[in-house]
Amino acid sequence: MVLPRRFARRFRSARTWILFGILAPVGMLVVSAIMLLDLRKDAWDKAEQTSQNLLQIIERDIARNIEIIDLSLQGVTENLKLPALADLSPELRQLILFDRAISAQDMGVILVLDERGDSILDGHAIPARHTNNVDRDYFKAHKARGGGGLLISQPLMSRLTGARVMVLSQRVDKPDGSFGGVVLGTLKLSYFTRLFDRLGLGRDGAINLYLHDGTRVMRYPNRDSDFGTSLAGTANFERFVREGSGSFVGTSSLDGVDRHYAFTQVGTLPLILNVALAVNEIEAEWRAKAIVITAIVVALCGLTVCLSLLFGRELERRGAMQVELARQSLTDALTGLPNRRRFEEALTALRGDAGHAARHFALLVIDADHFKRFNDRHGHAVGDEVLRGLARCLLESIHRPVDLVCRVGGEEFAILLQDGDEDEALRIAERVHARVALLAVEAAGIEPGSVTVSIGVATMGAPATDPLAPSDLFSLADAALYEAKANGRNQTRFVERRRGVVDRRQASFRLAGA
Ligand code: GH3
Ligand code: MG
Ligand code: MG
Repeated sequence: MVLPRRFARRFRSARTWILFGILAPVGMLVVSAIMLLDLRKDAWDKAEQTSQNLLQIIERDIARNIEIIDLSLQGVTENLKLPALADLSPELRQLILFDRAISAQDMGVILVLDERGDSILDGHAIPARHTNNVDRDYFKAHKARGGGGLLISQPLMSRLTGARVMVLSQRVDKPDGSFGGVVLGTLKLSYFTRLFDRLGLGRDGAINLYLHDGTRVMRYPNRDSDFGTSLAGTANFERFVREGSGSFVGTSSLDGVDRHYAFTQVGTLPLILNVALAVNEIEAEWRAKAIVITAIVVALCGLTVCLSLLFGRELERRGAMQVELARQSLTDALTGLPNRRRFEEALTALRGDAGHAARHFALLVIDADHFKRFNDRHGHAVGDEVLRGLARCLLESIHRPVDLVCRVGGEEFAILLQDGDEDEALRIAERVHARVALLAVEAAGIEPGSVTVSIGVATMGAPATDPLAPSDLFSLADAALYEAKANGRNQTRFVERRRGVVDRRQASFRLAGA
């Protein structure tokens, strides 16, 4: 039972609600931030997955196509060694040499060059279309080095077709092993455009194919300015070469756009392929969601804070109201003094408070003399003014905050003195008479000395030892007051209990000259 009550009290506390109003939004913000970070991570995982998939598909396609052309070139070099080849008709020779290589969709030309670089056999024409490629790098490289092996050229403009191509070539050896020329096949760069065209990469996405020396073979989307440019030495390219395959986020040296680069080596070829997705586009969908979610969460947080503050303030107002009501219920409206209820509470508390063990108390009951006459003569309002004046006189007569002045009835007041013995009580009573003697309401013609009071005084010992009940203390003081009235008013009477018999001692006070 205690626990739920404590909870209920907590929930009624304004501070709890204000704290809730702060903690709940903070909690909401933390949860939303975690959620958004998670969504962002998902977006990046998706981008990484997409890039890797694309990379794999493209890499396989390119490697396979180059392998097909290479096999055709190797076929030609092998067939060139056939001794009977020279005796065949040109048509038959072409058929044997080039087989079906010429039908490959992306192959531009397939040519055999002699050791001077002149075209001597052409996969697409009899006699061979004339061209001389002695100046091409691949020709010089084959001539310079012995042994076979595929060479992939930088992107070139084909002299026969005018198309942009990449030349794949194999060296042809004479029977004695010396340089006999080159077999070359061109791969049209349009092949890459077609391949990459099928892939959706976003507005700022790109696919790049580089030679190991940094020359860009192809960029998608295609820009003329990119043709044959070299990225050698740039931070991104260094990383492609160094790591072989992988992914990272970097800034493009070309356009300054931040991109996620997934890159790999194409088979065993000296080619590096990368798929680059713009960071902006990877995060675009997430960012749109994040803006909406953040806006909603911030609005909800704001609402929670406002509601909690309002609720907390309302609770505070209610609390203050309750305190005020409680104060009012214990206060006399006319004089502002504690009322009879407060007085009775104080009396009852005397018995219950163990802290009072070593003390004694004194009670003064004060009643205005012939007060009815003031009302009758000056009216009720003036009577009220006199009552307020009396209240002031009583307050001025005590000096310790622990002593309590109350209005206990119409024109009747009480002073409860803590630790007040008989002498102290009589001293206070004298002060009261002296102050009241000075009380005047000039506007009503009530002059100093017109108002008098009668006072009954009683004392009791420590509540723990004195058999007298606090309520009896009041009766005793009231009896003393009765005596003071009966004895002519404007005086104090005291009840002496220690002698066993109620002995009233007079401490009469009269105005000088009254
Ligand atoms: P005594 O000396 O015997 O006490 O005579 P008294 O006239 O003071 O006593 P009594 O009990 O006959 O009359 C008390 C009067 O106090 C009656 C009532 O009109 C007046 N009174 C009580 N409360 C108020 C108040 O709040 N305002 C005013 N103006 N008068 C009040
Ligand atoms: Mg009276
Ligand atoms: Mg009275």
